[in-house]
Amino acid sequence: MSTSRTYLDYNASAPLRPAAREAVLTALDATGNPSSVHAEGRRAQAIVETAREQVAALVGARPSEVVFTSGATEANNWVMAAGWKAICVSAIEHDSVLAPARACGAKVIALPANSDGVVELGAVAEVLTHAATGGGRVLLSVMIANNETGVIQPIAAAADMARENGIALHVDAVQGPGRLPLDFATLGADTLTISAHKLGGPRGVGALIVRDGFNLPSLIKGGGQERRRRGGTQNVGGIAGFGAAAAEVAREAAAARRTAGLRDRLEAAVMAATPGALVIGNGAPRIGNTSCIAVPGKSAETLVIRMDMEGIAISAGAACSSGKVGANGVIAAMGLGEAIARAAVRVSLGPDTTENDIAAFMAAWQKIAGGAALAA
Ligand code: PMP
Repeated sequence: MSTSRTYLDYNASAPLRPAAREAVLTALDATGNPSSVHAEGRRAQAIVETAREQVAALVGARPSEVVFTSGATEANNWVMAAGWKAICVSAIEHDSVLAPARACGAKVIALPANSDGVVELGAVAEVLTHAATGGGRVLLSVMIANNETGVIQPIAAAADMARENGIALHVDAVQGPGRLPLDFATLGADTLTISAHKLGGPRGVGALIVRDGFNLPSLIKGGGQERRRRGGTQNVGGIAGFGAAAAEVAREAAAARRTAGLRDRLEAAVMAATPGALVIGNGAPRIGNTSCIAVPGKSAETLVIRMDMEGIAISAGAACSSGKVGANGVIAAMGLGEAIARAAVRVSLGPDTTENDIAAFMAAWQKIAGGAALAA
């Protein structure tokens, strides 16, 4: 058992940034409901509005387009529940898109991914044909980058398709900020999801960016908060921390290049140490912090547990982390087969990751998965 820890699971949740922590604590001490007219209420509202500007700036949106939610899961559920006749959804989306899409009563068409994990948009035509016969609103939902593989998705092509056919486009951009440039104003999406805790803000707060003028009925009804779009007193502390984290990320374009360099070195070392290992998705453009590695014949779950005992935090895929035992759904959707799906682990880096972290990872990996230990 190792006592020192190396955290390489940023795609699950990034460590809280000191500036975000500071902003949360200050906001928690501010008395007042942001909807109240008195001085205390106006102070709370000012905190929320400053954060709204910071989050808007991070993704190239207008502040009026930012609606704070309890996280990306709520934001994705909100979009799926908006009364679509048909939803065209990529098979590699996060469960917070897939599950509500399947539950909402719309006709759902799953878009397959190729073996590199890039979504194929061809099947959209099928939905359009069906939809054209009966009318009704149609949604296309494609994520910006996959949380398991890091593979960047063809959003520009999806936006062209949506515009040409008069259908709506939703983009789950949770893994985007700080890793690729994001500009909602030119992306061509109607709605976009982000989450604070993936960028060093607190957990349990996120936002849905809703294009000005886009008609989206509320999911959480009740109060008139968030310009009547999302009822409930805002999580002022969480939102303040989200804003502070967003402001830092917006200034850190160079950090992504440094992280990508460390990730590439980690992958090269893994390939040298472990004959037969695969880096999933490395034939496609990827965000620079994510590595999805499979050693055929090795169980991902066992690898994650043994790495944890050596002080290294990595993950065995979203399906496993949500408590379900089984193969990784994203890898299975790529058609790579059950053996690889069961073996795939995810290593995800962040702006605080150091050379020492990579060295610690490799020392543990060598011991557990490298060379002679492979047969164990
Ligand atoms: N979408 C993607 C792509 C994600 O990676 C996650 C978090 N794993 C979510 C949505 C859900 O985010 P939240 O934790 O804010 O509900």
